[in-house]
Amino acid sequence: MKYLTFILIIIVLACVFYAYRPFMNFKGQDSIADGENTEFTEEDYARKRKRMVEQQIMARGVRDKKVLDAMQSVRRHLFVPEQYRIYSYNDQPLPIGLGQTISQPYIVALMTEMLDVDNSDIVLEIGTGSGYQAAVLSAIVREVYTIEIIEELGLLADERLKRLGYDNVNFKISDGSLGWPGKGPFDAIIVTAAAEKIPDPLIKQLKPGGRMVIPVNNSSYIQDLLIVEKDEAGNIDAKKTIPVRFVPLVEGEEAAK
Ligand code: SAH
Repeated sequence: MKYLTFILIIIVLACVFYAYRPFMNFKGQDSIADGENTEFTEEDYARKRKRMVEQQIMARGVRDKKVLDAMQSVRRHLFVPEQYRIYSYNDQPLPIGLGQTISQPYIVALMTEMLDVDNSDIVLEIGTGSGYQAAVLSAIVREVYTIEIIEELGLLADERLKRLGYDNVNFKISDGSLGWPGKGPFDAIIVTAAAEKIPDPLIKQLKPGGRMVIPVNNSSYIQDLLIVEKDEAGNIDAKKTIPVRFVPLVEGEEAAK
């Protein structure tokens, strides 16, 4: 019996270790990522991306062709730090430094589909992070405005987006819970960090007939992903969709620090 318990503990530990492998920063892993024989080519990454779209995104019900095409076209591996690049197309979020994460591909696709946007729309994103979500939107909409509060992350993302030619993306460093005054109203707003409540300035900057997708805390650990619609009369209707887990939206006093 004791023997069986011991074996069970070993199996559980092995599973935990396996699941958190990408978040552990081993010296050996860097050398795997950098090693000539294990480095993937652009063709390898394109194949992995196709598999990601089919198995993680279409298989879970995302159907909007514009979203599927954008997820196929944006080279996600260029948005993650070098040492995690080989995991870029895995079904998981990844660290991007400074305690922040790039969302799981499925969640990016799902939130983009929920926004229900096309090439006539102007979209505001709060939480630029790596710039990946902004790049996906950039491939679909007329113009993207994206705001990041951490200067170091934001400047890297802005430089990356420009270098990769996503030139309909406008970027600034600021507290995104205040929106982008002077640029709205927006056809759609996407918040990629967890809010305590829907920030009022964002509701104001949403066009009548527009939509916002935002994760809002329902306990200390998880959030409800909400679709918020503003009708032509300015009334707000918020619908809960799925539970999600995002890093927190820094607001008010915290943001001012
Ligand atoms: N959309 C990103 C991932 C977002 S992670 C991507 O595709 O990579 C959430 C980001 O929100 C973090 O970079 C965090 O610094 C940022 N953030 C948190 N609070 C913010 C605020 N008040 N205003 C703007 N950005 C904020």
